[in-house]
Amino acid sequence: MTPAQARRAAVEASHALAAAGQGDMVWGHAAVRDPEARGIWIKAPGWGLEEVRDDRLQLVSYDAEVLHGEGVPHKECHIHLEILRASPELNCTVHTHAVSAVAFATLDVPLMPLSHEGALFSGDDVPRFRDTGGLVSSSDLGKRLTTALGAAPAALMPKHGLVAAGRTAAAAVMHAVLLDRACAVQLRVQAVGPAVVRSDAWEARAKRAQCWPDSQLEAGYRYLVRQAAGSLAAVGASPHTT
Ligand SMILES: [Zn+2]
Repeated sequence: MTPAQARRAAVEASHALAAAGQGDMVWGHAAVRDPEARGIWIKAPGWGLEEVRDDRLQLVSYDAEVLHGEGVPHKECHIHLEILRASPELNCTVHTHAVSAVAFATLDVPLMPLSHEGALFSGDDVPRFRDTGGLVSSSDLGKRLTTALGAAPAALMPKHGLVAAGRTAAAAVMHAVLLDRACAVQLRVQAVGPAVVRSDAWEARAKRAQCWPDSQLEAGYRYLVRQAAGSLAAVGASPHTT
C-alpha cells in the first residue's frame, strides 16, 4: 500500500461508516496506518464522516503530532494510535458513537449470537472498555482500551460508543457495522422478552467462518462505499477532490 492508497482508504472508510448510519455529526472517525510508519491517516476535527475528503485528512504521528494537514488532531486520536502501535497486523481502526451499541451497552448483559451479525464474536461476549465513559484523550487511556479490545474484532465502550479494528479498512468498518447491528437485534428482542432461539457456541463459530470471511466483509464494505458515492454524486460532490 502507498500513502496515497492509505489516504483513499481513510476517506472511503469514513464514507462507508456514514452510509451505515454511524455518523454522529462531526464525532467518530476511522484511521488507516501510514505505510511509511509515520503514524495514521485520519480526518481533521470539525467534519462529519460523509464530509471527509482527501484534503480534509491529517497524518498524525504516534506522538499525536499533526505531520500533514490542518488544525489539531482529534482528542481521541489515541484510540487509533495505541491500537495500531500495539498490533502490527492491523491497518485500520474505527471509533464511533453508534446508537444501538451505546444503548445496548447500558444493559450490561452479554451480547448473544442471535443473528448473522451476532456470530461475529463466535459465541463469546463482546469485550467492554470500562475504565472511563469519557473521552479516550490520552496515550494511557488508549493503551488501556487496546488491552480491553485484545484480539477481538470490536469492543463496546459503555456510556460512549464502540471501537473496531481490522487488517483492512473493509474489516474494521464491517466489524463496527456488524457490532452495531448485533446490538440493534438484541435490543429489539429484549424489549419484548428473553431470547429463546440463538446459536450455540458451535454454530456461532461455524457461522463466523461461513458468514464473515474476508471476502464477505469486503463485499459488504464495497456496497457501503457505493452507497456513499451515490449520495455524494446526488449533491454534486466528489470524495477525492476539492
Ligand atoms: Zn468518542
